[in-house]
Amino acid sequence: MRRWLVNVSGLVQGVGFRPFLFNLARRQELTGWVRNNFAGVELEIQGEPDKLASFVKAVKTEAPPAALVETITISEIPPVKEDAFLILASEFGQVQGSPLPDQGICGACMDEFYNGKDRRHHHPFNSCTVCGPRFTIIRDLPFDRNRTSMAGFNLCLDCSGEYTNPADRRFHAQTIACPKCGPSLWFAEPGGKPVDGDPGQRARAVLKSGGIIGVKGIGGYHLACLASAECAVEKLRVRKGRDNRAFAVMFRDLETLEEYCEPAPAEKELLLSPARPILLLPQRAGSKLARAVNPGLKEIGAFLPYTGIQLLLFDKEIDALVMTSGNRSGEPLTIEDHEAVSDLGAMVEGFLMHNREILWRCDDSVLRFQQGHFIGIRRSRGYVPAPVNSGRNLAPLLACGAQQKNVFAVTKGEKIYLSSHQGDLDNLASFLIYRETIERFLRLLQCSPEWVIHDLHPDYNSTIYAKSLPLKSIGIQHHLAHIASAVAACRIQAPVIGVAFDGSGYGIDGTVWGGEFFYGYETSWGRMGTFIDYPLPGGEAAIREPWRMAAAYLRNNPGLGKWLDRNGLAGQWPTLEAALKLGINSPLTSSVGRFFDGVAALTGGPPTVTYEGEAAIWLENQADSSVEKSYDFTISADDEGFRIDPGEVVNQVYQDLSRESARVISMKFHRTIATIIVETAKLIRDETACSRIVLSGGVFQNRLLLDLTMNLLQKHDFQVYVPEIVPVNDGGIALGQAWLGSLMIERGVTDVFSGSRSSN
Ligand code: ZN
Ligand code: ZN
Ligand code: FE
Repeated sequence: MRRWLVNVSGLVQGVGFRPFLFNLARRQELTGWVRNNFAGVELEIQGEPDKLASFVKAVKTEAPPAALVETITISEIPPVKEDAFLILASEFGQVQGSPLPDQGICGACMDEFYNGKDRRHHHPFNSCTVCGPRFTIIRDLPFDRNRTSMAGFNLCLDCSGEYTNPADRRFHAQTIACPKCGPSLWFAEPGGKPVDGDPGQRARAVLKSGGIIGVKGIGGYHLACLASAECAVEKLRVRKGRDNRAFAVMFRDLETLEEYCEPAPAEKELLLSPARPILLLPQRAGSKLARAVNPGLKEIGAFLPYTGIQLLLFDKEIDALVMTSGNRSGEPLTIEDHEAVSDLGAMVEGFLMHNREILWRCDDSVLRFQQGHFIGIRRSRGYVPAPVNSGRNLAPLLACGAQQKNVFAVTKGEKIYLSSHQGDLDNLASFLIYRETIERFLRLLQCSPEWVIHDLHPDYNSTIYAKSLPLKSIGIQHHLAHIASAVAACRIQAPVIGVAFDGSGYGIDGTVWGGEFFYGYETSWGRMGTFIDYPLPGGEAAIREPWRMAAAYLRNNPGLGKWLDRNGLAGQWPTLEAALKLGINSPLTSSVGRFFDGVAALTGGPPTVTYEGEAAIWLENQADSSVEKSYDFTISADDEGFRIDPGEVVNQVYQDLSRESARVISMKFHRTIATIIVETAKLIRDETACSRIVLSGGVFQNRLLLDLTMNLLQKHDFQVYVPEIVPVNDGGIALGQAWLGSLMIERGVTDVFSGSRSSN
């Protein structure tokens, strides 16, 4: 007989960990006790030595899906006389660990949902210790029902029996509910007036007739319609005033999803994981989805239901629904019922509403699984607020993020907490909510930052906000933050080559950067290479009109006039060119995002776009992967580093226009960019002997480019890193700011580029 004191740290609270240990102890015939403590759980177990060992092994291997066991420490203590295993009250007093992300409905709760004999049959709020909302209903820590928006719902006798029974899978489940005592769901007219009858049935009837409904979920409202009905999807686009971006599609179950897309085994696992993110998957040829879902694209944003409310939207006839964020175009996600009526009422034929308050906006997360890596597009519901553990003590700071796809971050101890997706801060409503959310987030996590970190762009609302705070502030270059985000997420503790390819970001020389090669470690970085600057004719407007970039790159090509003529653009160019010659409203840029725009416009892509990245996405979707050719390029070197001239490539694209299709040109272009990365990286490796390389920035949302680049880099013996779940786009900036900012504070460094080739 032996007795062990065991401490388990990690995300082990509010995930059914104690009932799991209780049942495990019974199985191994052990006595003792368990309780929550500040770092995780603490337990004493007593029994035969081999059973103690298999208990500890199972703690790691059989832990509930949402749990994350970080460390287990064991020490031997003297045995005592006892005959049971007990769950003891928590050792409260201090704030408990981290709040958990929302957890998608688990298998056991789904079984009950579909079981006609279960008392929770078709219960929209079915949840247990391992599943259900967490973050979006929390007011304060620790996570107890009376500090959540479940507080008003008093347990019925049956539920409280389960809640207090240590052997029950709902023991201490803070979201426990049933049709008798939980929140309720109803169908409402577009004006908000409730309608009698079975809400699920009513919602499905509207959907089947081609209607649109607003659905209140966990992190906000969705707008839903049949994904197979062309006119319904088109109606949704028009009513929402949506740009050309693809809609996400929710499928009834994994089997149905596989009729439309082709997920690999790891992707299936991710689709079913508690986070239930939207995954970008290759669409099967001949799928029955309406064309308007993802016009012209090869991929589909697919996900699975994560709450009972969503399960109610499906039946035998409904297998796929467009589920898009419920908001007015460009505005924040709607979470309040009265806002839903005023903002979304005109877009829908009805609502599914409920009386559980949503306390935190949380959009669905979007990921891609590629080459064994999680490429983050949006890290939000299911991941927030799980921290990124940096492995080192951090200065107490707030990192304000960028302007587009904003996410902010706060630090506490070794942890960096990233916020949910805050949207584009040039929208006033988003900016107001951003400020309020920062204050609430700091309060929830009990953080009091002494420093604020911001982008160098003086006009970003996040920068303006940062400078308005009574805190010491530090500015960090945008693309270096992109690289730092991957260094932090992957905990790389050595120098790296950083490739930041992006739309645009403020450079330290006042030009617009976006095609950068860095090399460095911790607080000492150099800009080792970049693309030769070209003007953005008319400034920001060139982002919305990619043809302007094509013209800028072809400025000295005698064929430019003919190309402009052919495309009906000749009238607009002379004014822009005159301004450009005078240097008026024509900032210089090294952006690879703009390089893609220009080539896309030249190749027959949209001359104007409705959102940034649209032209590049068009180009990617043209590519014929069987094409092996690529374009020539030159890497020149001067005192400031390596230089690549996009104009040299664009001139070859121009020559190709008369003899090659867009499919061929696109593939040649993608191969060229991948080769430029590898050849430049090799030159940097020759100088630095470093073969670790980080890829980050919005351009790497391009699946084809990332595939080509990673394959080629690996072939040349580079170790490749990406930020892993943290977005490669501007949603990842705050993590990089927090990590690098903390190091700068600690070391008293004010200029991370000092001593580098590009310092000036
Ligand atoms: Zn469950
Ligand atoms: Zn109940
Ligand atoms: Fe960026």
